[in-house]
Amino acid sequence: MKRWISLMVLVIISMQTGGWGFYAHRLINQYAVFLLPPDMLVLYKPHIRFLTEHAVDPDQRRYAVAAEGPRHYIDIDHYGQYPYDSLPRTWKEAAARYTEDTLVKYGIGPWWIQTMLQRLTKAFTRKDLAKILKLSAEIGHYIADAHVPLHACSNHNGQYTNQHGIHGFWESRIPELLAEKEWDFFIGKAVYITNPLQFTWQRVLESAAAADSVLRFEKELSAGFPPDKKYAFEERNGTLVRQYSTAYCVAYNKRLNNMTERRMQQSIYAVASFWYTAWVNAGQPDLKTLLHATFSEAELQAFEALHQWWMSGRATGKTCE
Ligand SMILES: [Zn+2]
Repeated sequence: MKRWISLMVLVIISMQTGGWGFYAHRLINQYAVFLLPPDMLVLYKPHIRFLTEHAVDPDQRRYAVAAEGPRHYIDIDHYGQYPYDSLPRTWKEAAARYTEDTLVKYGIGPWWIQTMLQRLTKAFTRKDLAKILKLSAEIGHYIADAHVPLHACSNHNGQYTNQHGIHGFWESRIPELLAEKEWDFFIGKAVYITNPLQFTWQRVLESAAAADSVLRFEKELSAGFPPDKKYAFEERNGTLVRQYSTAYCVAYNKRLNNMTERRMQQSIYAVASFWYTAWVNAGQPDLKTLLHATFSEAELQAFEALHQWWMSGRATGKTCE
């Protein structure tokens, strides 16, 4: 009995991530580095480990800062029907129509990305290494979240349709099973984005449109799948846990026609392109001069504090449990 309880606890822990699972977030930032032009690669490549590890800082911050949660999603179905024309795309107009409180309540993901882009651009202008790396890692997280269909949908973990756990299924379990074995992430080069707000909304609307398939296909698959084959005890990070079986994952992925892979590829492309856009807008500063800069003691302590909050606390706001 004890063993069963501990296994269930492990399964629950494995579903407590927000946005892409930690694994996918790290992979997205990592691969985004290789889409950069040489003038940026010169700084990003030596710091690829930092960019990868800190891809999950925004999720860790949810354990310490109440305002963090809404930055990762938008429950866009609150605003009517696709393509949600009644929701103005700029923050100012949207807040004028619905109030800031309402926007915060249903998630501010698309707008928060623009704030992060401005901050990153400023960090490049000032040639502030710590901020460049920190903000690059973190904007990568928010952009990637905007690509997750269930981050643009109020039924974000299938809680209204008896599909509890589908969030982690789509964004953690499937990438962990298939990403490195079968998927391709070398996908061309970063491009300059002339209208980042419009670009962001396009991706968010794609996510919103895909949420229906993500939920419906799982429901249909589940109805026709032998119940005893849906879950299995399989090894995960060296531990035996009960989770969606490999057969069930493969069948779902096939039914979605590799949607998760496509959204990961688009995330990588978008992350690299936002980094590149910030750098260009800052006047393409020479990043070689930053190669020998390091983090201050205070900056290192701030990273450690964030990690500790996450280790000891509970997330505030909506999570994927
Ligand atoms: Zn997130």
